[in-house]
Amino acid sequence: MQLTNVLVYPRYPESLERLISLAYNLWSMWDGEARSLYRRIDENLYREANNNPVQLLHALPEERISELASDRDFLSEMDRVWRRYQEYAGKGSELGDAFGESTVAYFSMEYGLHASIPVYAGGLGILSGDHLKGASDLGIPLVGVGLYYRNGYFRQHIFADGSQREEYVSNRIYDLALTELKDGQGGPVSITVNIRKQPVRIRVWLARVGRVRLLLLDTGVHDNPPEYRAITENLYDARREVRLMQELVLGFGGVQALHAAGVRPSVFHLNEGHSSFLILQRLKELTGEEKLSLDEARALITATTVFTTHTPVEAGNENYPAEMVTSFLAPEVEALGMSMDRFLSFGSLHNSSTFWLPAFAIRFSRHVNGVSRLHGEVSRRMWKDLFPQRMTCEVPITHITNGVHHSWLGGPMRELLDRHLPPGRLNSADTAGLAEAVDRIPDEQLWEAHCRCKQDMIEYLRDRIEKSFSRRGYAPVNGVRTDRLLDPEVLTVVFARRFTAYKRPTFLLADRDRLKAILTHARRPVQLVFAGKAHPADSLGKGMIKELIDFARSNGLEDRLVFVENYDSLLASYLVQGADVWLNTPLKPFEASGTSGMKAGLNGVLNLSVLDGWWPECYNGRNGWAINSAMTVENREARDAVEAEQVYGLLESEITELYYEHREEAVPRRWVRMMKESLRTVLEGFTINRTLERYVRRFYLPAAREGRRLREEGGREIKELVYRAEQVRKLWDSVRIDRVRTNIKDRDILFAGEEVQVDCEISLDGDSGSLFAVELFSYRHEEDNFSSIPLELSEQQSGRAWFRGGITLRAPGMQGLSLRLVPADEQLRTLHPELVKWFTL
Ligand SMILES: *Cc1c(COP(=O)(O)O)cnc(C)c1O
Repeated sequence: MQLTNVLVYPRYPESLERLISLAYNLWSMWDGEARSLYRRIDENLYREANNNPVQLLHALPEERISELASDRDFLSEMDRVWRRYQEYAGKGSELGDAFGESTVAYFSMEYGLHASIPVYAGGLGILSGDHLKGASDLGIPLVGVGLYYRNGYFRQHIFADGSQREEYVSNRIYDLALTELKDGQGGPVSITVNIRKQPVRIRVWLARVGRVRLLLLDTGVHDNPPEYRAITENLYDARREVRLMQELVLGFGGVQALHAAGVRPSVFHLNEGHSSFLILQRLKELTGEEKLSLDEARALITATTVFTTHTPVEAGNENYPAEMVTSFLAPEVEALGMSMDRFLSFGSLHNSSTFWLPAFAIRFSRHVNGVSRLHGEVSRRMWKDLFPQRMTCEVPITHITNGVHHSWLGGPMRELLDRHLPPGRLNSADTAGLAEAVDRIPDEQLWEAHCRCKQDMIEYLRDRIEKSFSRRGYAPVNGVRTDRLLDPEVLTVVFARRFTAYKRPTFLLADRDRLKAILTHARRPVQLVFAGKAHPADSLGKGMIKELIDFARSNGLEDRLVFVENYDSLLASYLVQGADVWLNTPLKPFEASGTSGMKAGLNGVLNLSVLDGWWPECYNGRNGWAINSAMTVENREARDAVEAEQVYGLLESEITELYYEHREEAVPRRWVRMMKESLRTVLEGFTINRTLERYVRRFYLPAAREGRRLREEGGREIKELVYRAEQVRKLWDSVRIDRVRTNIKDRDILFAGEEVQVDCEISLDGDSGSLFAVELFSYRHEEDNFSSIPLELSEQQSGRAWFRGGITLRAPGMQGLSLRLVPADEQLRTLHPELVKWFTL
């Protein structure tokens, strides 16, 4: 039988219009008062609807709807929340106003906005979601672009034997806070992307994230043949060709979707390499409609593109065999008038047989960053080959450390902060007065708020475990009824994250007897909560889940070590709010950032973490605990043991002693002091507001300004830039540093305060001296940093130019000095990083 499925939406009375409209804005999922409004309608239904107002409204019986429609109290609360939103959305901000007419397009493969919209897998998606929420809070004109996956990411089921099974559940789009994007005439927007010359139709869903819009592309359109309909079925499809097609849809279709939504972005931010093909779409548009040359288009794109890398392992970066890319893209690339070889060279890293999406993105981005200080360093090393003429320390990849949105705050903690922080502080990047405000919170109140969050978490976990057990007909664990599982009085350590080898989920099993003794200590026991999905293809990750469950079972510790299935953002929020200690044990340096620890820290939960990712930037000895990484120990098992030893030691003494102080006193004073320190340091340094402020000031605004400048007067500046580039490239082979005189010749010992003076002569064509710069480069070994001081062009004749200058040596230590010739124009140095000629002094 052939059924035609249509979506039938309920009709609501006019008086509830605002309620419906608010439900379709994700703001209502994180604003405390909006949440109360929906919860008040029907507490149980709200919970069953995953705290999703749209689903709740759809589940309401008609009588309840008419009741609400004439409930004066309810309507006035609805109006109050409505006005609250209007006030929120109308609020100006200095950061937002600085953009003028400019808009930022933000591209990401996944978005974790709410558990009800499962188009995310993990940290990358959650970060993208927080980025949009933060942009809304700060009034930054930003539009998100992503894909709508009909099956989302898999649901995890854990069986009694500890094995994981994946279930793919089709999203019920009808119940999600998404509407179809409409064009000017009110009809649904339809976009077409050609893949191997075949048209693929795309529909576009719109999510309202406060005042920010997110466009989600969906190929599940009737007119598409089944293989195209399937493109956006599953997040991170393991089939390479499907993945490539997803990325073509995201890149090509995403830019078109923005146009359909009336957006002409000034800046494009690529969150990871998946969206890199948007560069190709921009090349196409700029050389087509706007009639720029390829070089001009590249110059403009580079000036206005921001790229964020998240993956500290080379192999984890998105890449395809060159033949596969050619088979998909040859027509597109040739239509541009570019050879396929040249196109492939933009994505090459060590050789031309593999096309790396991040390499392609980096070569077209003026602004590139990693997501923590440490990850910035790792990224400079990892992408060093893209800049063969540069030293690692000057590879143009900086860092902007991730942050988290305040919607991760637990209810009691939020109430407390609302009472004590300066008003509006959670929605701003301003950190003045935070330290004092946190300090003034009475210990008792902070401890009480934490205990309430912990109680909420435990109740939620019991309920969740109970449900999944009864669904499968399992008996209570170890004779403990699930409604008694987990003791609120016991120190609770949580490990919740993707189960993958480098995160080392079974780290604590290094010495099982010792762990058992810690968990069952008579006076200072510890309980552990684990959660996390293993990728369907990761048998190692799945094995680790089983190992933990087996350990608990075979030692009768099922009430001390609990594994909770199906880690998602809802479970994550309970865990980061209710844990006492947040454990993170990555193998350094593979944790790029690690945002769950920030969420925990924001709730006053104390981090116990390897000094990797964000933690070295936050840890100060008073706000949690650090595990030093035994990076010099080569043998993996030995290394794990050395690091685990530190954790056992801390759990056996310091951590449990501090925590159980409250057995004697009502409040564990020293613990609470650490909680405050954790709160303060995360609020000051690791909120998404702070992160966004940095993106705005360092990347977005300069890129928007530069794009405007280049486009002025019909693109005169671009034309001049490209003309200069041609000149420099034409002359490059013949220009060279000829003769150098310095006052340090033959000296290898110098003293601080001495000045190094350099005179040099370069030979070149004609009087092109002003096209080039000579830099005195100095590298400081101990700090691994550099400075490059331009010498002054002192004289030039036809065929010769003289440069002169110097530096004063300041701090002592080993320094490397050298001279180098580069293009004088800074933009050219970005566009052509290969144009460097070194000269040994
Ligand atoms: C925050 C979060 C993550 C990322 O946390 P890490 O610390 O990077 O492991 C992953 N999944 C969910 C559901 C989250 O909420």
